[in-house]
Amino acid sequence: MSKMKALVMTAKQHMEIEDRDVPTPKDDEVLVETAYAGICGTDHALYNGLPGSADATPPIVLGHENSGVVSAVGKNVKDFKKGDRVVVDPNIYCDKCFYCHTGRYELCENLSAVGVTRDGGLEDYFTAPEKVVYHIPDELSLQTACSMEPLSCAVHTMKITENITPYQHALIIGDGYMAKLFAQLLRIYGIQNIDMTGRHDDNLAWEKKELNLNKVINTTKEKITDKYDMVIECVGKPETQEQAVEATNPGAQVMMFGVGAPGQTFNMNTYEIFKKQLTIKGSMINPHSFEDSIALLSDGSVKVKPFQNNILTLEQVPGVLAGTDKVQGKSIVKVNGDLK
Ligand SMILES: [Zn+2]
Ligand SMILES: [Zn+2]
Repeated sequence: MSKMKALVMTAKQHMEIEDRDVPTPKDDEVLVETAYAGICGTDHALYNGLPGSADATPPIVLGHENSGVVSAVGKNVKDFKKGDRVVVDPNIYCDKCFYCHTGRYELCENLSAVGVTRDGGLEDYFTAPEKVVYHIPDELSLQTACSMEPLSCAVHTMKITENITPYQHALIIGDGYMAKLFAQLLRIYGIQNIDMTGRHDDNLAWEKKELNLNKVINTTKEKITDKYDMVIECVGKPETQEQAVEATNPGAQVMMFGVGAPGQTFNMNTYEIFKKQLTIKGSMINPHSFEDSIALLSDGSVKVKPFQNNILTLEQVPGVLAGTDKVQGKSIVKVNGDLK
């Protein structure tokens, strides 16, 4: 049996490179040779023993934002063959629970996920059921494609908003990777006038130009004074969640995308929620969003490459997750790189 390199989380806050056997796909599974794997806030949570969309129990290989090339398929797999370029939706729904039966797959009671509850892309090869594997077109690079999963989470958020129209004014709270994806998506879904908050003048000035924003607000020195019809919170801290609800027009919707710590709460003016008839909505993972994301990245309507700041090796990942190696912005791991 051939061997491969895997970055294994052996315990909370501990990872090791191991030599492992290349996994054998089950009958309905695809074996993927990893090209690139993105690292996100969820991985930081999982590394520190906190839950993401689900709990990760060591030993486990993280990596839920993956692109790669099919290396082998199980005997019941119909739509994939060796050499196909693919992305993998990490989320595997049970198709049996109440929420799956009523079409709200993101709330599945038996959710399993590649890179969370089963081994993911931070290793040379990983397996996934055929039903969560998607073909990507030749013109889409594997590096860009590894952002399919985060983009699809943002697409899901846009899908569960209501009544978006071009006259509306949107605020994105935070200027991280997801915030930059939302700035592009809001425009595609119909809102043109977009402001963004952040904490560093240099970054904000660049983002204003790059993302064609209306206004940027450095919240370390200025208050948010305008009111908005759509607010997307992309930080997940109590103070930014408060800002999100406060910065609303009557009838506004506030999308809570940033993931707070379990047990975290924030203050709200409940009379204002009544008086303004606010919609405050959470957004969890990404059902039925990969097809849209593949279309948006393939035709260039959404750009990710200018915002993929750090290209890491597998060996560099533990230091980045532990915070001993300080990196700014989005990190992606070049596992086997541009395979084809
Ligand atoms: Zn992620
Ligand atoms: Zn289910």
